[in-house]
Amino acid sequence: MRISQRLGLGFGIILLLLIGMAVFISLSLVKIEKIQKTSAIHTANLKTSAELRERSRHWLITVNDMIQRRDVFRLNHHEFLETSVKKKIEEIRRTIHDERIIILLNEIVQVFNTIKYLDTTFLHDFRMGNNASRTIKIFEEDASKLNQLLATLDEMITVAYKQTVSDSIRIEKNCWLSLYAGAPIAVIFSIVYTYRATRGVTKSYKTIEKQKDFFDTILSNTRDMIFIMDKENKIQYMNKAALKEYGFALGKYCCHALCHQEIPCQQNGIEKILKGQTLKIERTMNGKVYDSIIVPFVMGNKDISKMEILRDITERKHLQDELERLSITDKLTGLYNRRYFDDILEKEVLRARRLRHDLCLLFIDIDKFKNFNDTYGHAMGDKVLQRLGNLIRKHIRKGIDLPCRYGGEEFTVIVPETSTCSAIAIANRILKNFGKIEFHVSSRGEAVQRTISIGIAELGQHNNAKSLLVNADKAMYKAKKEGGNKVCGYEFDVYLNSADVSVI
Ligand code: GH3
Ligand code: MG
Ligand code: MG
Repeated sequence: MRISQRLGLGFGIILLLLIGMAVFISLSLVKIEKIQKTSAIHTANLKTSAELRERSRHWLITVNDMIQRRDVFRLNHHEFLETSVKKKIEEIRRTIHDERIIILLNEIVQVFNTIKYLDTTFLHDFRMGNNASRTIKIFEEDASKLNQLLATLDEMITVAYKQTVSDSIRIEKNCWLSLYAGAPIAVIFSIVYTYRATRGVTKSYKTIEKQKDFFDTILSNTRDMIFIMDKENKIQYMNKAALKEYGFALGKYCCHALCHQEIPCQQNGIEKILKGQTLKIERTMNGKVYDSIIVPFVMGNKDISKMEILRDITERKHLQDELERLSITDKLTGLYNRRYFDDILEKEVLRARRLRHDLCLLFIDIDKFKNFNDTYGHAMGDKVLQRLGNLIRKHIRKGIDLPCRYGGEEFTVIVPETSTCSAIAIANRILKNFGKIEFHVSSRGEAVQRTISIGIAELGQHNNAKSLLVNADKAMYKAKKEGGNKVCGYEFDVYLNSADVSVI
């Protein structure tokens, strides 16, 4: 369960406890109020009951006196007492809701009425001069019954009163109990829960802090630069490596800080990132080459931004370039090797066709080189090969013509966008200048010269790379056949003012 949920649940329980207690206490107070009212009624009834008994006693004495003495003149006084008793009975009746007391009151009223109507009997006996002994007997019985009923009524009212008082005490007790028990429970629960919740929060906070430190350490120690950019491409985070390389650039636009450009950079591929994909590119910044991985990064405000991890691959790139260069370079002469020649010739032929440019190929072979090697040694032979390589490089256009060591003592030069005439001129320059070089053999004290044979082929309508090479080779053999130290062209239609050029 998450901390916020736990806190919510805990404080919800505490709130419920407090609400429950408040409801219980208010209900109890309402009950107590009711009981207090009932108790007041019962107290009043107790008083009324005592008065009723007192008045009944007076009334019964008066009635008894009147009957015993046959004193008709006391009737008025007797009636006054009778009304007074009746009034008290009615007073009690009005406030009583207890079924048993109501029944008892009815019985009292009945006996009261019986005694009340004795007046008539007495008057009749009096007028007729009858003996009142029977009336006296009835009166005595009823009077005794009335006294008994009144005593019972008194008792019942007292019991009801006591019951009410005990109920009141019980409810009050419960009320206090709930207050004494519930409040400490709520308080203890609140304290314990708050303590635990706080501990939970502290623990989680510590865990987060630990994790933060952990990631900070990783981010600080990594040699890769890490940038986090917001959706406007402003830098929001830089790790230690990034700070070291670019200085403090937080809040700056990525293009200003990293690429030193006014226009926004690195926005290409942003759609990919917004879709949650990873973008891998190679970037060159500050004269260094970086492998860049750009991944989507969700910031706190839910805006998707990006995180860029840049790994410096400059050294690796240089090594790669060097390896690539070596893989296409001939070690001895520094010219391109045969593997590269095969690739590039195909491409140059296609390019010349596409752009409708001229293309010529020179095939150069050192004359009687085996002989030279045998006579002056292989090391000397290597020097010759190197000098020829340098010479070729010197007499061609740098970055346009492509010189290769085809194999052994054979060289080729791809001469693009060049007419046959110009190719012949180049070939002649190389041939003449090579012939002038003197190779000093120190062991013998001799200076020797070598010659070369050059075949030239031009890319025709029906040529491909392979046939172009074969043609150049054929032209070179033609030059050999004609004694060497010569430039020969393959199927040239026009002789181009060169006495040294012959056509197959
Ligand atoms: P041709 O005039 O007919 O071309 O005769 P050639 O002797 O030059 O031709 P051949 O094909 O008979 O001999 C080529 C020689 O080139 C054989 C070998 O001694 C020499 N050679 C090939 N590669 C190297 C190399 O890397 N270094 C040296 N020093 N010599 C090499
Ligand atoms: Mg050869
Ligand atoms: Mg040769």
